[in-house]
Amino acid sequence: MKISRELSQSKESGAKYRGLLEAAPDAMVVVNHGGEIVLLNVQAEKQFGYPRDELVGQKVKNIIPEGFAERLIADGTRTAAEALAQQIGTGIELSGRRKDGSEFPIELMLSPLESAEGTLVTAAIRNISVRKDAEKHLVKTVGELKRSNEELQHFAYVASHDLQEPLRMVASYTQLLAKRYKGRLDGDADEFIGYAVDGCNRMQGLIRDLLAYSRAGTNGKALGKTSGESALKEALTNLRAPIGESGAVVSHDSLPAITIDDTQLVQVFQNLVGNAIKYRSAEVPRVHVSATKNGGNEWIFSVRDNGLGIEPQYFERIFVLFQRLHGREEFEGTGIGLAICKKILERLGGRIWVESQPRKGSTFYFALPERDGK
Ligand code: ADP
Repeated sequence: MKISRELSQSKESGAKYRGLLEAAPDAMVVVNHGGEIVLLNVQAEKQFGYPRDELVGQKVKNIIPEGFAERLIADGTRTAAEALAQQIGTGIELSGRRKDGSEFPIELMLSPLESAEGTLVTAAIRNISVRKDAEKHLVKTVGELKRSNEELQHFAYVASHDLQEPLRMVASYTQLLAKRYKGRLDGDADEFIGYAVDGCNRMQGLIRDLLAYSRAGTNGKALGKTSGESALKEALTNLRAPIGESGAVVSHDSLPAITIDDTQLVQVFQNLVGNAIKYRSAEVPRVHVSATKNGGNEWIFSVRDNGLGIEPQYFERIFVLFQRLHGREEFEGTGIGLAICKKILERLGGRIWVESQPRKGSTFYFALPERDGK
């Protein structure tokens, strides 16, 4: 009676286990210590293209040629259970072989199954062909994007660089015309020459800024520790003229040294402080630069002004190439400065944004991650 009860119990639990196997969404095979298949579900039949009878008793090596059997069969120094313990819960990528010899990528999840015959291994086998194809497609698309982006960068650089030369010629000859013939032709001629000179100057400014923009993302100069204070000092030296003309007062707190290409930090300060002075209100411009550590591993710099301010709906737009809120007649400019700052900072994993109240003033912030934990 005892024996028959045990038998029926094990039959019952065996049936339960079979039911579970069939309900699983993945192909499942149960393998014994010798690497032979003892049980499988219908998904496994379909996946590998064998009728069930043909697979039972076969070596698992026939359907998963590499990797699996080695993991399974204990090498004498460790038991199958120990070998498995190291694998459980981790997806192992291998390849499966169908009856017709074709192969497909699979991911295996192994778990032990105690039985009267010792530790068996249940393997859930997922066909990952679709995922692998998607991954390949993604890698290809990213590669293409990178290439076309590089081409575009190169094009922008070459175009602006090569345009400089003929433009220089047009500019110098119109300037010569203006110098030699001003007042010697009629009033219209003076006016036309004036427009030509002005157009040349503007185009030179645009091309100079476009070149700076295309360089901002590709500058191969090594990054080094740069003192924020000396970068600001250099930017202020470059801004001598507008500071002098406007009587601007620029103050700053103590600024940290950060990892960045030094000329680029000068460029960022120069653009932000330059704008703070350019877009001033009737008051004498007061600009304050400071930096705080953002709890974690970021430095946040700010450049605060008491200028015209910006309406909230333009907070994002001003960082886009060529976007300006003011006409040329009001304020000179090309609409490239903030786009350059954004490109420089984002290339280093940083960000830039603005907070502002119209007619009260603006604060431009930029955040840069600290590197090497310094
Ligand atoms: P540019 O100064 O050549 O126009 P920028 O990219 O530096 O180009 O700035 C884009 C626009 O953002 C400016 O035209 C101006 O309208 C606005 N702006 C930038 N800085 C400020 C500031 N500090 N205060 C008010 N407006 C600003």
